[in-house]
Amino acid sequence: MALKTKTEKAHNFEYDAIVLGAGPAGEAAAMKLAKSGMKVAVIDPRDQVGGNCAHVGTIPSKALRQSVFNIISMRRDPLFSQVTDNFQVPLNKVLSKARRVILNQVSTHKLFYERNRIEIIHGWGSFIDAHTLHVESTEGAPSKVLTFDKAVIAVGSRPYRPDILDFDHPRVFDSDKILQMDYVARKIIIYGAGVIGCEYASIFTGLGYVVDLINNKDQLLSYLDNEISDALSHDFRQFGVRIRNNEEIDHLETHDDCVILHLKSGKKIKSDAILWCNGRSGNTDSLNLDAIRLKANNRGQLEVDKMYRTSVPNIYAVGDVIGWPSLASAAYDQGRNAAGFITGDKDAEFITSVPTGIYTIPEISSIGMTEEDLTREQVPYEVGQAFFKHLARSQIIGERSGVLKILFHRETLEILGIHCYGNHASEIVHIGQAVMKCGHTLEYFINTTFNYPTMAEAYRVAALNGMNRIF
Ligand SMILES: Cc1cc2nc3c(=O)[nH]c(=O)nc-3n(C[C@H](O)[C@H](O)[C@H](O)COP(=O)(O)OP(=O)(O)OC[C@H]3O[C@@H](n4cnc5c(N)ncnc54)[C@H](O)[C@@H]3O)c2cc1C
Repeated sequence: MALKTKTEKAHNFEYDAIVLGAGPAGEAAAMKLAKSGMKVAVIDPRDQVGGNCAHVGTIPSKALRQSVFNIISMRRDPLFSQVTDNFQVPLNKVLSKARRVILNQVSTHKLFYERNRIEIIHGWGSFIDAHTLHVESTEGAPSKVLTFDKAVIAVGSRPYRPDILDFDHPRVFDSDKILQMDYVARKIIIYGAGVIGCEYASIFTGLGYVVDLINNKDQLLSYLDNEISDALSHDFRQFGVRIRNNEEIDHLETHDDCVILHLKSGKKIKSDAILWCNGRSGNTDSLNLDAIRLKANNRGQLEVDKMYRTSVPNIYAVGDVIGWPSLASAAYDQGRNAAGFITGDKDAEFITSVPTGIYTIPEISSIGMTEEDLTREQVPYEVGQAFFKHLARSQIIGERSGVLKILFHRETLEILGIHCYGNHASEIVHIGQAVMKCGHTLEYFINTTFNYPTMAEAYRVAALNGMNRIF
């Protein structure tokens, strides 16, 4: 096929903008561009929109977590515990609810594209030059060549697969493949104790598996507030997770009925299966970046400036493919803001602060500075704490584990950080985030009437606790 190289002027391009990838970053960019009157096409090899987020990442893992959470709640209830005590259902069956959620998400998001008259082309996009894209159809249709003025790369990421592991082996999984696990195991090794590893440790423990969690560092999720990280380790151990800190893989033995993990420390761990959760790579290898003289780093990620521009001025990149923070929440904002920069929106901004939301059981969420940050920067701060076990709502729900910490400046009472561990932490943190964003001080929580009983009341309790420490 003769591939045409684009040399025409901008107004002759077929599309004002093309977006590569229909995940959250691509969707948000496409919506904003289309709403600004641009002619937009979105390219994605999947036959459904939603990206890895909807199909293998956020949505299935969160739906799975909810199913496991329900199983744990039933097991705690004497009425149902007999039914759930010998719960032996393979993971892919537990996922049946997630599949319904995925379908609903896909149809909702498809509607957004249709309403905004955004064309979706199913295929792999690769650059011919900085204004021309080749699309290899995944639907058996002939390949296409599209010309465009601006491009937004939002191709996301995939689990990193080291050469030393055979991911075709039925007992070796990554976070994409685990969703197809079709047998029941009793034990699993989770290699990598980042967010995804810790979330899956909760899921498998909830299903009754014996979990060995291998951590390369000396503490779980070491960027979190120390007390929260300690609380997670404590609860994991209570639930039977064996955390192995400061360990590194040497090699893995695979057998028909088991795997044996050999660690550099000399330890050997035998288990029914291994879930590898150690790192992700940007999906840049299919893009033919050489054609536009763009280079990804060794993790397949692209560098951008504070307007989400790559070193090719008309080509932007957003979402997991640019690395931090690799969250769907941020990917939406990055996509919308990149499109804002393209369309000249004066409110467009580069995202530098996002809440942390970790869906372990219980959840973790935080925003702002940690005690460790404040100590390092010698900020005079104080802490207000509310333990969930003291809250009426928490007692009613039967969830006694959890804490809300408010860090505030001891002189100005400015709120500097919110850290929450416990059921619904990912929702609870947003109350604090809103109050922080509006510039209110700790006094807001004391002078505001909260519904009773609520989990939100934790803010009032923590604020009063903090105020009592001021002298
Ligand atoms: C197990 C797991 C749990 C997670 N949980 C959470 C969570 O709870 N909260 C949260 O905020 N985030 C979570 N994340 C992260 C979140 O899923 C990602 O940050 C998010 O999906 C990134 O969105 P994106 O739009 O950048 O890319 P993606 O969602 O990865 O979508 C990229 C799309 O681009 C397509 N593509 C690839 N190559 C090409 C090409 N050459 N041409 C065209 N299209 C291409 C892909 O097929 C894909 O559809 C989780 C991730 C995982 C793996």
